[in-house]
Amino acid sequence: MTTSLHRPFLNLVGGEWHPAPEQLEVRNPADTRELVATVPSMDAAGVHAAFDAAQRAAATWRRVSQVDRGRILLRAAQLIRDRQDDLSRTLTLEMGKTLAEARGEVGKAADFFEYYGGLGRAERGELLAHENPAVMAWTVHEPLGVVLAITPWNDPLLTPARKLAPALVAGNTVVLKPASDTPVIAIELARVLHDAGLPPGVLNTVTGAGRRIGGALLDHPALKAVSFTGSNDVGDTLRSGLAGRDVRLLAELGGKNAAVVLADADVERTVASIAAAAFAQAGQRCTATSRVLVQRDVVDAVRDGLVQAAGAHVLGAGVDPDVSMGPLVSPAQRDSVQGFVERALAKGATRATSPDPALPGEHGCYVAPTVLTDVDPAMEIWTDEVFGPVVALVAFDTLDEALELVNASQFGLAAAIYTSDLGAAHAFAEKADVGQVAVNLPTSGWDVHMPFGGFKTSGSGHKEQGLEGLDFYRRTKTVALHSAG
Ligand code: NAP
Repeated sequence: MTTSLHRPFLNLVGGEWHPAPEQLEVRNPADTRELVATVPSMDAAGVHAAFDAAQRAAATWRRVSQVDRGRILLRAAQLIRDRQDDLSRTLTLEMGKTLAEARGEVGKAADFFEYYGGLGRAERGELLAHENPAVMAWTVHEPLGVVLAITPWNDPLLTPARKLAPALVAGNTVVLKPASDTPVIAIELARVLHDAGLPPGVLNTVTGAGRRIGGALLDHPALKAVSFTGSNDVGDTLRSGLAGRDVRLLAELGGKNAAVVLADADVERTVASIAAAAFAQAGQRCTATSRVLVQRDVVDAVRDGLVQAAGAHVLGAGVDPDVSMGPLVSPAQRDSVQGFVERALAKGATRATSPDPALPGEHGCYVAPTVLTDVDPAMEIWTDEVFGPVVALVAFDTLDEALELVNASQFGLAAAIYTSDLGAAHAFAEKADVGQVAVNLPTSGWDVHMPFGGFKTSGSGHKEQGLEGLDFYRRTKTVALHSAG
């Protein structure tokens, strides 16, 4: 099976496809000897050209009716569904996730365009009461102008979709900077929007190493908002780069998501749910469960269940339909995750899963799903984001104790509780200091209309998705009009 993609992948700038003098190589994480594609590695001048194009398009795009903007997004949703096979294969080849996972991501990307496209027919403000009956007062939502979207590699189609759909329907123009490990699928998304009839300059892509073009991404005077998903380190760099400027920043950052299992939970269903949240996409999800807290009576049953679920995974290239877990995205990510496991073992943790799992081929970025016990909550494996198929397990006695452990984290993205006690579920939902709480459901998997985003160092306080997700991309003007002229 050929693993390279033959189409030229160029950047969409001002409605045309642009090359650059230098190229970025995209390699297949299932076998890094295979070159999947090359994309332009843009320099500062290329980045500025993309912002210039976005600035030029902003004045006309904001005057296109919201209904018509929505229509283009609805066409894009349909095109994504029509191209599902191609897009899924591209996603798998450059990112590593299985084809089934990729198909799920493609479907959800379409959902974002469908949901926000539909909102093209929703309100654009509200009518307000006024003391004087001769005065009519209302609010109207306006676009911000030029928005920069910076996205990571773990959901490289879904995350741009989550940002572009609300930004575009609200009337903004966008510069999209995708992760350098997975730029091809972002270019394919730009092609979808171009083919759906998005006018020139409304969406522009810039591919290239963030550390090289990071300064150029922020310094254009037309920039009005940055919507970022990625690591806390880069989030901090953006925050300081924008300090003192009138530029909104939405940042969706890291997580260290806990699942709490009470003794009255249905153990079989709980284990299946936690294993899915921990090991799907080889654990490379910001909402992946990575801490498992189990009430002492059921700790052995939950540990054994997770070990069994880990052992049942078939590792291999994501394009193979028999495979249930693909490689990690890159050699750097594989080495980072392995480093976390090795340091945890050196500090006294025990690997409950096979100590010597067979991995498919030395050129792939594989890490076996791993369950660690004998973990102390002070250990790095309990406190830091791993972003791989690794869970650490700790026993507790009371719900209060579990809540204290959940909330002791610097992160506050998602947490789950598994129980048949409604009172305990409500108490947990109220007291867990996280942006997303799941009861008898995995920490991952939040539908497009459900506001999504973390507390504490997991986010900037702005939610994505749903109506709240739209609000980040628009400002509200209040108008009062006296009919007497
Ligand atoms: P990352 O290293 O922060 O990269 C994210 C994006 O930022 C990439 O496009 C990267 O480009 C770019 N970038 C790097 N340096 C930059 C700079 N100086 N200026 C501007 N942009 C820069 O994160 P990642 O490793 O791709 O993704 C994993 C992280 O994302 C994890 O921490 C995960 O928790 C987080 N995440 C959070 C959520 C959420 O919703 N909370 C969702 C998914 C992922 P290059 O690729 O070219 O370096």
